[in-house]
Amino acid sequence: MIPYGRQDINQQDIDAVVEVLQSDWLTQGPLVERFEEALCQHADTGYAVTCNSATSALHIACLSLGLGPGDFLWTSPNTFVASANCALFCGAQVDFVDVDPHCYNMSAAALEEKLELAQRNGCLPKIVVPVHFAGHSCDMERIHALSRQYGFSIIEDASHAVGGFYQDRPVGNCCYSDITVYSFHPVKIITSGEGGAALTNNRDLADKMRMLRSHGVTRDQNLFGDMERADWCYEQQTLGFNYRLSDIQCALGMSQLARLNEFVEKRRELAGVYQEQLAVMPLKTPTELEGVRSSWHLYTVQIDENKTALSRRGVFDTLRQSGIGVNVHYIPVHTQPYYRDMGFRKGMYPEAERYYKNAISLPLFPTMTAVQQYEVVEALQRVLS
Ligand SMILES: *Cc1c(COP(=O)(O)O)cnc(C)c1O
Repeated sequence: MIPYGRQDINQQDIDAVVEVLQSDWLTQGPLVERFEEALCQHADTGYAVTCNSATSALHIACLSLGLGPGDFLWTSPNTFVASANCALFCGAQVDFVDVDPHCYNMSAAALEEKLELAQRNGCLPKIVVPVHFAGHSCDMERIHALSRQYGFSIIEDASHAVGGFYQDRPVGNCCYSDITVYSFHPVKIITSGEGGAALTNNRDLADKMRMLRSHGVTRDQNLFGDMERADWCYEQQTLGFNYRLSDIQCALGMSQLARLNEFVEKRRELAGVYQEQLAVMPLKTPTELEGVRSSWHLYTVQIDENKTALSRRGVFDTLRQSGIGVNVHYIPVHTQPYYRDMGFRKGMYPEAERYYKNAISLPLFPTMTAVQQYEVVEALQRVLS
């Protein structure tokens, strides 16, 4: 089976991890800070707080921005459930903004409309989480302008978009957001096994997230309120978690970060081949909008109902049977049983549902060979003709 995604681990990555295993520190050693510095350098951002997953990073990002009971967080329905769940972890409520039919990201126009209505009803969101679906940045300039007008904070969920660019700046730069979250899960662009990070230019938010990541505890004696200043002392100032990334993982993450450009170049090359080869098939292929340079975490097509009577289900099953590890991203979050129990219904976000109905993610990963890609294209040709 040709998988839809796969990590690329080379000898340099392995050596980096082995070196940590032979060192004094397996966790909370020097590599955490070094990885965080490297992330800041990559994104040209002030602060990076690594976490054991993007899900944890989203959680503490929400908490640091003060999200709590009575508040609303809005995100895209076309995402992994974690982008929405982070609000529920904080006791806040979730709502969704439908996607743009051209890039399947949160639509800035739909957001504007929903904000106008929410203002009249007195239920504006505290946080909006735009998700850079498939590695293609959202229209951050417009979303940022709306945040100024309506007074909400922005967390970019850039789990797919590490290595992507928006207006010639790396995604993660935070010039249009308060915090950007990266994921280092193995199917994403770079990996630390499990892992994530929250990037920000705001020192206060970074300090809060650092404390929340580690039990709400600080060892910085300058920050102590009551404790006596002694070497054994630490002070718990808030309720936090153990969301730390280990030195073992940071070593892998740092080694992978050094290869990020190579990975994205390869993904862009493969996506380019798909664009050419699939153009003649009854498929809608993705587009890269002006000002965006996608990292192509996913290459998703839609069965074009106007050009073929074949169903997504039929095409998907046949491809899987032919050894092509296709997948589907995403089942709209609001249609999940857990969210339906909160009152969400099918039909509420028609663009996300329309997209989902015909979507298929094709295999795309940096070690994919020309022969493998040819196999995918040929299998598609057979199924669709
Ligand atoms: C993968 C993913 C996450 C969660 O990442 P983890 O590191 O696995 O917690 C969150 N949001 C999106 C959009 C993702 O794709």
